[in-house]
Amino acid sequence: MIVDCHVHVNNYQDETVFVLDRSLDLLQHTMRRNRVDLAMILTSYVVSPGRPSTRQVVEAIRDLPQFRVVAGLDYFSFRPEDLVELADYVRAGIVRGLKLYPGYQPFYPSDARWEPAYQFAAEHQIPVMIHSGDTYSPRGKLKYAHPLHVDEAAVDHPDVRFVICHIGNPWIRDCMEVVYKNPNVYTDISGLTLGDFEDRFEVYMRRQVQDMLLYGVEPHRVLYGTDWPIASMESYLDFMEELAIPARDKRKIFAENALALFQLEARNSPLHRRGRV
Ligand SMILES: [Zn+2]
Repeated sequence: MIVDCHVHVNNYQDETVFVLDRSLDLLQHTMRRNRVDLAMILTSYVVSPGRPSTRQVVEAIRDLPQFRVVAGLDYFSFRPEDLVELADYVRAGIVRGLKLYPGYQPFYPSDARWEPAYQFAAEHQIPVMIHSGDTYSPRGKLKYAHPLHVDEAAVDHPDVRFVICHIGNPWIRDCMEVVYKNPNVYTDISGLTLGDFEDRFEVYMRRQVQDMLLYGVEPHRVLYGTDWPIASMESYLDFMEELAIPARDKRKIFAENALALFQLEARNSPLHRRGRV
């Protein structure tokens, strides 16, 4: 089984054009071709025609059991009241996490503004995914996206589980240390390339992921994700295929860790009702 814990349905070509239905069709097709059973769709921190809101995505996937949503929050417009609507989606088993975008937006994960969001995550037992490392847009500010800043939020919120996205690339060692040290921190390997991996870079990155596991990051804290459509699902499968780690660790990374962390087997989830898990 494969769970891709990090995909998007934004229109990266043209932010002014709404393409949610087309993106979902293409995503379903790409998942089938790459043996992906379940995908977590991360909504953006901004809503525009090309970046559908959490509500729009939740409504669009209501009858598609192979999807869940991780709700992106906007640093500037976030109000604790926004969490009321999200609570319904969380109870329905559709929203399974929150996503913050430091770097794309100017804040550190420990910013006091997120206190209600962290309380919400603790109460509902859902993880908070944090963008980290390189920003796809040159307008991002990298200092906010350094994985070391997740440490403070993780220490101050021991009852919240965090996911450092993109293994903090290129600050992979710092990410390793934050995950190694904090039992409530996980990391995903998504977004390590644009499109397909270039051969030499793929070898380099595979070594980094292997080193991370060798360093002492337990395999149950690493999640499979691609960042599709920014990265190619085909190329990511090849990347994983040649990763020199025990088969049981690969199974954890491919699916078991995400199933447990996002509680994808919850009774109220559409997937469970249809008997697929
Ligand atoms: Zn992403």
